[in-house]
Amino acid sequence: MDNQVQSSRQGFWSGMALWKKILIGMVAGIIVGALMGPSAALLKPIGTLFINAIKMLIVPLVFCSLIVGITSMKDTRKMGRIGVKAVVLYLGTTAVAIAIGLGLSALLEPGAGLNMVAKDLDDAGKSAPPLVQTLLAMIPQNPVNALAAGNILQIIVFAVGLGVSLVLVGEKGEPAVKLFESLAEAMYKLTELVMKLAPYGIFGLMAWVAGTYGLDVLLPLIKVIGAVYLGALIHVLVFYSGVLSVLGRLNPIKYLRAITNPAAVAFTTSSSSGTLPATIKATRQDMGVSEGVSSFVLPLGATINMDGTALYQGVCALFIAQAFGIDLQTSDYLTIILTATLASVGTAGVPGAGLIMLSLVLSTVGLPVEGLAIVAGIDRILDMARTTINVCGDMMVAVLVAKSERELDENVYNS
Ligand code: ASP
Repeated sequence: MDNQVQSSRQGFWSGMALWKKILIGMVAGIIVGALMGPSAALLKPIGTLFINAIKMLIVPLVFCSLIVGITSMKDTRKMGRIGVKAVVLYLGTTAVAIAIGLGLSALLEPGAGLNMVAKDLDDAGKSAPPLVQTLLAMIPQNPVNALAAGNILQIIVFAVGLGVSLVLVGEKGEPAVKLFESLAEAMYKLTELVMKLAPYGIFGLMAWVAGTYGLDVLLPLIKVIGAVYLGALIHVLVFYSGVLSVLGRLNPIKYLRAITNPAAVAFTTSSSSGTLPATIKATRQDMGVSEGVSSFVLPLGATINMDGTALYQGVCALFIAQAFGIDLQTSDYLTIILTATLASVGTAGVPGAGLIMLSLVLSTVGLPVEGLAIVAGIDRILDMARTTINVCGDMMVAVLVAKSERELDENVYNS
């Protein structure tokens, strides 16, 4: 009888969606931490184990998925031109998204008054170098050193160079492309496995946070959610709509109507790759974008364009800085914009990928990676909003590129 109860309980737990387990881990952690008080620090090692496992993923994941993202742009002359337009728009809109995120976080100050202590955290206190130095140091003198040291900006630059070269050498590059594709697949799998630890890791970290800082952490989390959702609305309703009417001379209302279906799929699945079929369908049938443009620009966008993720990283980076009482300089803000823009290129369109990339942004700017613990518990709620924006951004760029290439059927768009 006992065994039966136990096995049905195990089935219940193992069959549950990961995000639910994470939420349960977070709530349980907060309760246990609040009950145990400072002695909940005992549970912190479970969380540290999880954080270490996440850190383990960053270098190979970014390196492989970035190369795969770049080599997926198969080159013909027209594709080249469309590709350049799309990439410029993708990166430009991403930078704006981070700025909106940072602005809202500065305004709403979700982390103010949390007074978390940075000195007992591993990565805190390292101050980021000035921006010029960061820019100069972006080119690695030795890429192997960059990989070994985990210097993400240098790794990104090298991966972009290698990816572009692999495309340029064509057939001869194919075996290497295949290798990176298969490594990237394996890294996605490993990420999935590591994320299985998340409920326990987050339990340990939240218990430690709640035990050390009390229940005061709850209100800030609600503010973080508010800032991300508000930023998402501003980005679509004001920025995308504005760009469409000013640059594209198109009626934004039609765009807002066409994004509803893919947005609903993105919101519920938290995966822009998973939403791709819905995105392609709506972009062609409801917005009149040609097959050629949509079948190239949209998969590219699902791989490299993550405005929602970038916006979220802006909000969270500043939130964590506020929570730990770390003052950021102007150069730090610029470094966040630069790193998060590049990081968004290397973010896979799968649930939870943005959280891992957040650790990259934090460590580049010298903020404590342990700050992840505070936002990880609500990650799914944030992921739903950011994936939606990621997908809406892809569609916006596809329409603009199609219009500029005379590949937009405006009768369909306006119907
Ligand atoms: N889930 C997001 C996407 O698929 C990526 C992220 O985690 O930010 O677009």
